[in-house]
Amino acid sequence: MNKPVLTVVVPCYNEEEVLFETTNQLTSMLSFLINEQLASKESKILYVDDGSQDKTWAIIENLTLKNQSIKGLKLSRNFGHQKALLAGLEVAERQSDCVISIDADLQDDISIMKDFMIKFFEGNDIVYGVRKSRETDTFFKRFTAQGFYRFMNKMGVQVTYNHADYRLLSKRALQELLRFREQNLFLRGIVSLIGYKSTVVYYDRKERFAGVSKYPLKKMLSFAFDGITSFSIKPIRFITFIGFLSFFISSLAGIYALISKFTGHADSGWTSIMISLWIIGGLLLMSVGLIGEYIGKIYEETKQRPRYSIDLDLYSELDHKRASHFIK
Ligand code: UDP
Ligand code: MG
Repeated sequence: MNKPVLTVVVPCYNEEEVLFETTNQLTSMLSFLINEQLASKESKILYVDDGSQDKTWAIIENLTLKNQSIKGLKLSRNFGHQKALLAGLEVAERQSDCVISIDADLQDDISIMKDFMIKFFEGNDIVYGVRKSRETDTFFKRFTAQGFYRFMNKMGVQVTYNHADYRLLSKRALQELLRFREQNLFLRGIVSLIGYKSTVVYYDRKERFAGVSKYPLKKMLSFAFDGITSFSIKPIRFITFIGFLSFFISSLAGIYALISKFTGHADSGWTSIMISLWIIGGLLLMSVGLIGEYIGKIYEETKQRPRYSIDLDLYSELDHKRASHFIK
């Protein structure tokens, strides 16, 4: 019987320190899967260089020359983790029966790829890798990440708890994913909207063995904010709710003020006026800002810009000829 062609998609941003070790481990995993008859000999590793400033692309290019099963995709600049991953997935889709996405730093346990494939053979279109614990993360990372998942779920965004972007997608799940045309990508959220049969494999998350996290707090916050505002209009509802609530409270205060006036207890109410002025002003600014956030999203989506640009594609061998290619 035909074995499924697997492509392991790995987004890389300034990962020169980890690439060799990652390649060692991934290639031996791939050979293992092929030996176990779980994946076709055509299976590949696809590194996506997300506009790195270090030697990442040079290393990738070198690896592709030495090893047939390693391919590279170079984006024209840094587009961010989600878009880099998307670019890799979109390119891999044409030639794969299933794809596994994983970070370059091997914090995710690659040995469970075997379980991914077994679950795939059992008929699952989506297999989520889920972290059992976060002991190896710093307290700060753990705390913020946990808060992130809680908050997302409260806001009505369905995300699998402690699932990063380590997952297997079948060809048809991938095709569905690629039909979501939005700019503001939050892949985790989208994957759970696909709805095909899915399951979970648990693993222990390790420490990044070299290099530093490319997700500083600022990127994490904007990631969370994007996740929420691209998936949920609950914040807008919340504003409406606050509006109603403050209206209700002001009515009570108004009645109280009137009664005070008619019973002759009215102080010159400077303080209360100032306070309510500030509160209302604050609420208004907040609401306008939030609504503006969504309008900004609409603005971005309507432009229908391409989500990434490919500089070099060593996977599908399509010719993205550079200008420098032509010699007069
Ligand atoms: N990454 C990327 N583009 C970026 C930032 C990160 O392609 O702009 C890649 C990075 O090389 C890694 C993955 O995304 O393979 C996850 O990043 P990292 O390990 O730094 O995040 P953390 O594990 O700290 O959340
Ligand atoms: Mg990492």
